[in-house]
Amino acid sequence: MLAPGVETLPWEEQLALDDEAYRAQLAYLLERSPFYRDKLANAGLADAAQAGGLADVGRVPLTTKQELRDSSTPENPIGAHLCVARDEIVRIYSTSGTTGTPSYIPLTASDLDNWISGSARSYAASGISAGERIVSTYNAGPFAAGAALASFDRLGLCHIPVGTGNTERLVKAIQLLEPEAAVLTPSYAAYLIEWTAERGIDLAGSSVRRVLVAGEPGAGEPAFRAHVQDGWGAQLTEAMGIGDIGVSLFGECEHQDGMHLGARGFVHAELIDPQTTQALVIDDGATGELVLSHLRHRAAPLLRFRTRDHVVVKTSPCPCGRTGPRIRCIGRTDDMLIVRGVNVFPSAIREVVAQFQPDVSGHIRVRPTAEGVKQDPPLPVAVEVGADAAPGDDLARAIADRLRATLVVQTRVDLVPFGTLARSEYKTRLVD
Ligand SMILES: [Zn+2]
Repeated sequence: MLAPGVETLPWEEQLALDDEAYRAQLAYLLERSPFYRDKLANAGLADAAQAGGLADVGRVPLTTKQELRDSSTPENPIGAHLCVARDEIVRIYSTSGTTGTPSYIPLTASDLDNWISGSARSYAASGISAGERIVSTYNAGPFAAGAALASFDRLGLCHIPVGTGNTERLVKAIQLLEPEAAVLTPSYAAYLIEWTAERGIDLAGSSVRRVLVAGEPGAGEPAFRAHVQDGWGAQLTEAMGIGDIGVSLFGECEHQDGMHLGARGFVHAELIDPQTTQALVIDDGATGELVLSHLRHRAAPLLRFRTRDHVVVKTSPCPCGRTGPRIRCIGRTDDMLIVRGVNVFPSAIREVVAQFQPDVSGHIRVRPTAEGVKQDPPLPVAVEVGADAAPGDDLARAIADRLRATLVVQTRVDLVPFGTLARSEYKTRLVD
């Protein structure tokens, strides 16, 4: 454990510290952030006393990515939530905007240091330790993932960056430099199993004992996890960050039972119902959209930021000794479909379909027939058959039956030949 004093602190004590930090963060924002001064005033919270503490966090309106984007101007391209002078900013990341203009994420020196501290705790939870080698496959470029790479230095690892899109180079690095760990997206981890199998390369026999994945949901699905662990002969643990809030905020430990909040003390996590935006109680098994607030941020702190990530919470004690609730990401709220009143996540469909391996490859594509979230049954799902499978006529029916029994959704399963659905070296699209 990187910071045992912090990571094993009883959760009530953590919340007491966080309450103090949150009140200070609110006062800071009211003083410095035009965006939050307006937003809080509109909600009848013109001073910090009216806004209260963490117990009253629900009084504060939610913040969306779009609002931040809308507040940027040519004079202030970062947006009205910027709180510091130009010379206090040491790093500016960006996210790829759908409109063509990126949105910018500024950090002060202390913000960057906190990001790296949280990320280092999240990655250390995987069990990786100083002196080990890790091969990374992120071309971080303008993106916040760059700060995750810095956390490998903090952990005392030997970092071998090979970047994205060069599988030959990656496999060569694994064969020759014998790293103990590899960090990549879940999609790429699965792709490499197929890529090496086609070339007769023994991936499971390689030096890699830990596969650390991040960047998209799905690595917590039991069938997917088993497939990757078998293919790599390694333990898979996942990490998760939110560009606007922090990199690798959460990281799973060797017990593989959900991700711990590595960025505890820097970030406060809540759960809401994505439809009604009502706050939900964080108890064992609760599911909802993750909402995050900065507690000690300086450059452009955010309050109650909607992550659009749909998570399930675990509150039982973890044998590793880290305290606090753990999460597993089920899917993106943006990807969610509603089929005759039932919420359906494409990643959940993939999880059920993967139970039919090796008759199926594990690759699926949901093909909605209507625009928007609401869909009429049956929902078309393309399912790729396995590499050497000769499935019987009843496979599509069996999959549809299992989907109906597990997810209460009526689907039309169309089997497609192996290799039909596009693979990704970065993130997989599950919906057409
Ligand atoms: Zn643990």
